[in-house]
Amino acid sequence: MYSYSPRPVHVRPELDRMAEYIPGESLESFSARTGIPVEKLIKLNGNESPYGPAPQVIEALGNHLSYNNYPDTESRALKQALSAYTGVDSRHIVISHGSNELINLLYHIFLTVGDNILSCPPTFTLYTFITTFCGAYVLEVPRADDYEIDVEAIIKALTPETKIIVLCSPNNPTGNPVSEEDVLTLLDTGRIVMVDEAYVEFSHNPKGFAHLVPQYRNLIVMRTFSKWAGLAGLRIGYGIFPDWIVSYMRRAQCPFEVNLAGHIAAIETLNHLDYTLDKVQRIVEERERLFSILQSHRYLDPLPSQGNFILTRVDEDEMKIEHVKQAVERSGILLRYFHHPYLSNYVRLTVGLPEHTDLIHQALLQLEEYK
Ligand SMILES: *Cc1c(COP(=O)(O)O)cnc(C)c1O
Repeated sequence: MYSYSPRPVHVRPELDRMAEYIPGESLESFSARTGIPVEKLIKLNGNESPYGPAPQVIEALGNHLSYNNYPDTESRALKQALSAYTGVDSRHIVISHGSNELINLLYHIFLTVGDNILSCPPTFTLYTFITTFCGAYVLEVPRADDYEIDVEAIIKALTPETKIIVLCSPNNPTGNPVSEEDVLTLLDTGRIVMVDEAYVEFSHNPKGFAHLVPQYRNLIVMRTFSKWAGLAGLRIGYGIFPDWIVSYMRRAQCPFEVNLAGHIAAIETLNHLDYTLDKVQRIVEERERLFSILQSHRYLDPLPSQGNFILTRVDEDEMKIEHVKQAVERSGILLRYFHHPYLSNYVRLTVGLPEHTDLIHQALLQLEEYK
């Protein structure tokens, strides 16, 4: 008999350099680890909305009768509603199942082996994972002490292979936005400037930079319904692109990529905007209350935020972050901790309901009593 030994098949080498993206812990995993039942947990580690979508969204999802058919590949109705919401013509809009996927597609359109993107840590780390997957690398230009981006340093760091400058505004996790002046300066470099506006609805300038996109060949704005609209579980986002990039994005997408439920939920959210914007307003007010409460604990140094989250430094001379973590976890509260060296003594709290803020406050007060 002859034995057949198959030639080994190798994956692309850049995958060996790439770890898996680790999101905030899930309720199920936290529950298994702590023994606290899922129903008792308060999830403040993923910047999700504590309110969820408008009741009309749930109703429309339940009443829809043709889930047996594929959705409209052109997403005409949703693009029209988004055009009214953003003030930008619908030919600039691309829909996908979350803005993460749009970032993924965009990077695959532009990046090939040896290219790079420029990013300003601490920021959203998914940008790095996708870049590595493309065989490209990240040029990191750290933020200044006040967490503002350093435009001069960015311009100096650019190489001929730099295809994309990525800016998150407001920035996850530091909570501060980029200024229009900085965006305009960076557009002059001719590189693609991608502004991730996942949290823009919570900011002082909720219209963001969308209106500038039609005037530039190299500005892209990414948006999502995951945070402000309470639709993280339905996976729906959009981007605003210059015309010439739209057709490449469309080519890169799989047919029927965006599910019908996501379409329906987004359209109904926009049809009943008052409801959702009222919830956004409550979250913004709660953010300010949470900020003062955190500030009242002497070992915490929270950063002012324009997102639905607050990043706070823990002064480890006064209090170990591990003790803070244990105290809030005993109360069933999930917060976001970081492995990155920039953020090892920081914790990020999603703004929840007023009673969630109260529980955090109580857990911290108890912790101080036992110290
Ligand atoms: C949450 C978040 C997103 C949203 O991703 P979706 O895929 O739309 O859920 C995008 N960018 C940043 C910085 C985020 O924090």
